Amino acid sequence: MQGSSKKIALITGANKGIGFGIARELGKAGMSVLLGARNAGLGEEAATKLRSENLDVRFIQVDLVRPETIQAAAASIAAQFQRLDVLINNAAIADQADGPPSTADLNSVQRIMETNFLGTLAITQAMLPLLRKADAARIVNLSSGLGSLKKNGDPNWGFASYKLIGYCASKAALNMLTVQLAYELRDTTIKVNSVSPGFVATDMNQHRGTKTVEEGAAGPVRLALLPPDGPTGSFFDENGPHPW
Ligand code: NDP
Repeated sequence: MQGSSKKIALITGANKGIGFGIARELGKAGMSVLLGARNAGLGEEAATKLRSENLDVRFIQVDLVRPETIQAAAASIAAQFQRLDVLINNAAIADQADGPPSTADLNSVQRIMETNFLGTLAITQAMLPLLRKADAARIVNLSSGLGSLKKNGDPNWGFASYKLIGYCASKAALNMLTVQLAYELRDTTIKVNSVSPGFVATDMNQHRGTKTVEEGAAGPVRLALLPPDGPTGSFFDENGPHPW
């Protein structure tokens, strides 16, 4: 198949929540959206829903803890499109057995790191050759205020009691990936940024979040559409730069 003139975007964990919202908005922006999901049934269902809205969306299987799915996705994108313009590293887990450093279950911390950090690093490495083939690729890492060392160190911060060492460390590690990869790619047109979507009502927090999925998707979408003079190696929330 010939390469597409439309931009190609891959969003991990896009069958629901903020990822689904990002998929919809990038589709509306005129991109060919590859809706990543680990569960084929859920992924197909979500892609079908967005196609019913006349958006160019197809399911692609990506399970961050199954490297063979990452390799197969990269091979499939290479065969169909020969490049990737946007990678949104959205998929992540929280875990009930996570907790403060003194008591968090170590297996839980390991599971979280394997998905949120190692899995994200793995897919980023796998997609990088395709991202390098795009004119001006964008990598967006879904981080969190909970990954901010500065915020975590502030006892008066509104979320100061959320001391989940596994989840928070996974997002701090993701922020390190943003900074180091942006440095590695500094002489290219590729931009790499972290974004906190805010406290968004999704399954991850039993819908306790105060923002809608549309509001949470806005920051990641903005970074996916950054112009050539936009920032790289930075961390944002809806109000602008976010402290590391
Ligand atoms: P959801 O729990 O609603 O969605 C998470 C998505 O990730 C689901 O599609 C899930 O798939 C997928 N996923 C989980 N594990 C894997 C895996 N191993 N491989 C591939 N996909 C996987 O979460 P949100 O939409 O709330 O979160 C999206 C991102 O935003 C995350 O990175 C989260 O950490 C971040 N974030 C969210 C905040 C919030 O308030 N909601 C606040 C700050 C950051 P499945 O359906 O199969 O489980």
